[in-house]
Amino acid sequence: MQMISKASCAMATLPCSRVRSGLCILPGMRQLSLSKGLVYGFTRLLSTPFKTLRGASRTLRVAQFCSVSNMSSSLQIELVPCLKDNYAYLLHDEDTGTVGVVDPSEATPVIDALSRKNWNLTYILNTHHHHDHTGGNQELKARYGAKVIGSGVDRDRIPGIDIVLNDGDKWMFAAHEVQVMDTPGHTRGHINFYFPGSGAIFTGDTLFSLSCGKLFEGTPEQMHSSLRKIVSLPDDTNIYCGHEYTLSNSKFALSIEPNNEALQSYAAHIAHLRSKSLPTIPTKLKVEKACNPFLRTSSTEIRQTLNIPATASDSEALGVIRQAKDNF
Ligand SMILES: [Zn+2]
Repeated sequence: MQMISKASCAMATLPCSRVRSGLCILPGMRQLSLSKGLVYGFTRLLSTPFKTLRGASRTLRVAQFCSVSNMSSSLQIELVPCLKDNYAYLLHDEDTGTVGVVDPSEATPVIDALSRKNWNLTYILNTHHHHDHTGGNQELKARYGAKVIGSGVDRDRIPGIDIVLNDGDKWMFAAHEVQVMDTPGHTRGHINFYFPGSGAIFTGDTLFSLSCGKLFEGTPEQMHSSLRKIVSLPDDTNIYCGHEYTLSNSKFALSIEPNNEALQSYAAHIAHLRSKSLPTIPTKLKVEKACNPFLRTSSTEIRQTLNIPATASDSEALGVIRQAKDNF
């Protein structure tokens, strides 16, 4: 078995010994309490075995602090829960000690996580200008001297921006190439950060697990086009989005595609995770393609449920699905 470089929990007392498929695994943990059928179904969906925590809620308390790290490179990625249901992410390059944070909604939980690790902060990466993604920028910048990175489109809306990136730019986080993708729809200046060497993408409020962001400044066509860019990445890409919305998203997804067996399995899996206060993020692109209604605009069942004509384009279907979700 390939060994994973490092994984840890931000709650320092809770070491996660390994990470596989983005799930945190504690020492001594066993294959879990879901029904065998469910395990089988979801395992097949991922094409890799998965494990989850047993009795972890007792030990973990605020189990969202469990962090994950990447198997194939020296980039560690750690979840930092912020506000009510936001995630910021710490990025740590083990070779150089370079540290970044993606979308710090607020400074305090990020400072706490950095202090526990004794890390400095080099970069602040923003997917878009909304306050629940940039609220910690100024305080973190002042405290650590970190450089703020964001979209050129939103250079006037991202607090403290220092480095402007645009669609197609390649930027280096230490030795890790970062590809910048314009993903308008939620906001006009929204970008995604894709780390091809680590198989990780930070999608902000573009793609969530089982949903997509609301269309505040964009059209269904723009969101559809943005999602197509993400869908073109490898199936095993880990998706780190801006919010823990997956459980409520699963209820809407099931309401419009109730016979999707992959969705049924995944919904049960994430309900189990949330019942233990565990994060559902990262999700895998392969899972989203099988389950996320906004990536399944051609699904006959979804179209029938929402009375979307067979002749409607995928963008038009996405618009109808988004409207139905807004009113759900
Ligand atoms: Zn937003």
